[in-house]
Amino acid sequence: MRVESVRGMRDILPEEAVLWQRLEEGIRALFALYGYKEIRPPLVELAELFARGVGEATDIVHKEMYVFPDKKGQMLALRPEATASVVRAYIEHGLYAKGDLAKLYYIGPMFRYEKPQKGRQRQFHQYGVEALGSLDPALDAEVIDLAWHLMERVGLAREGLYLRLNSIGCREDRPAFREALRSYFSARKAELCGDCQRRLEENPLRILDCKEPQCQGAIAEAPKSLDYLCQKCRAHFEELLSFLQDLGLAYELDPRLVRGIDYYTRTVFELCSRELGAQDALLGGGRYDDLVELLGGPPTPGVGFAGGMERLVLVLSQHLTANPDAPDLDVYVVPIGDEGRRKALEVLARLRRAGVAADLEYVGRSLRKAMSVAARRARHALLLGPDELAQGALTLKDLASGESQTLSLAEFLADPRAFLSPLPSGEKGGGDPFPRKTG
Ligand code: AMP
Repeated sequence: MRVESVRGMRDILPEEAVLWQRLEEGIRALFALYGYKEIRPPLVELAELFARGVGEATDIVHKEMYVFPDKKGQMLALRPEATASVVRAYIEHGLYAKGDLAKLYYIGPMFRYEKPQKGRQRQFHQYGVEALGSLDPALDAEVIDLAWHLMERVGLAREGLYLRLNSIGCREDRPAFREALRSYFSARKAELCGDCQRRLEENPLRILDCKEPQCQGAIAEAPKSLDYLCQKCRAHFEELLSFLQDLGLAYELDPRLVRGIDYYTRTVFELCSRELGAQDALLGGGRYDDLVELLGGPPTPGVGFAGGMERLVLVLSQHLTANPDAPDLDVYVVPIGDEGRRKALEVLARLRRAGVAADLEYVGRSLRKAMSVAARRARHALLLGPDELAQGALTLKDLASGESQTLSLAEFLADPRAFLSPLPSGEKGGGDPFPRKTG
């Protein structure tokens, strides 16, 4: 019987993985430019971490989290997001003790039992940043700038994107806003879906996240968080808006945006693509000024975002003219006869140690067939036949120009790069979304 992959969890095959590697490399480089350092928390945490951090009443925890007991009955969870993990690690390792701003980033898989569709999977990958230790609205602006900058570097035009922005206030503002929502939605309870009727009791803010068509009418006229901000939260938000104007970063105020996670305070935002259809959010984030304290650390404000790798790959692949057939090897070694075969492995080992991407004709094809494979996969073919070996030589064929030359094996191996032409630019994947630095 054939065993298949789990629904909502997919393989990233080599062709696509090239794009992933480049994106990850570019994301790391850009995060480093803003002073973020990588943290790699485990994929498995105590389930309680997310129940407390993300919130019991959220869809993520209530419906989508993979929870299971270990052999001692301890309830564990596959992480559905990484902010709670990063904050847990920040507290556990006393990173706050350094007294400075902690700027951390991560890239890795997350797990949510959602209904799979285009741009939505059960195992997906997020890249994200967390800046812990400052209330300054300039930091919110910097995080939003980083989000925009990332999209620019990836090569997505600003016109195809928009930033949704809102402030949902602090914990002092929350009770009044929650009460306003509760009384408003109670009056329209009959219009709400079953889930929202439950949310009405547990946390009416979560009704604003609901995607059910039947709830949209009531949601559209609901009280707005901006009308419930205290003086400080209002000033924070106004300062953020003026920073964004200074930076020339566009935003659309969206009073419905609350984001489906309980830990957010004040600023919340989503950067969306106009090309993605229903699952259009490329990344989302905001402030979480109470989360560190909630998870047992000293009161420490924080701000960050998380973006979906799959969605970035989706929009990018709509723009790239992929060329999966472009060669990715410098050299394809084609041995002829037993002697050639014996020497080939040694030549290959020396080439690779010299940093030359090389592979060997292992399948035993005829010379003609081997040369056509070489032409597809490599920039050069390196022929090792009895005639060449008798003279301590090899034949190097430039597969782009078709020219061949006979070279001394010893001289060639002493400095193979000197004899090889570079792979054509725009190799595999149709060009680098993050151009590599030259020089
Ligand atoms: P969230 O952690 O829910 O704020 O999501 C942040 C970003 O992660 C979203 O904007 C998406 O780009 C991505 N994302 C969230 N859930 C999924 C999923 N199930 N599949 C693919 N990407 C996702």
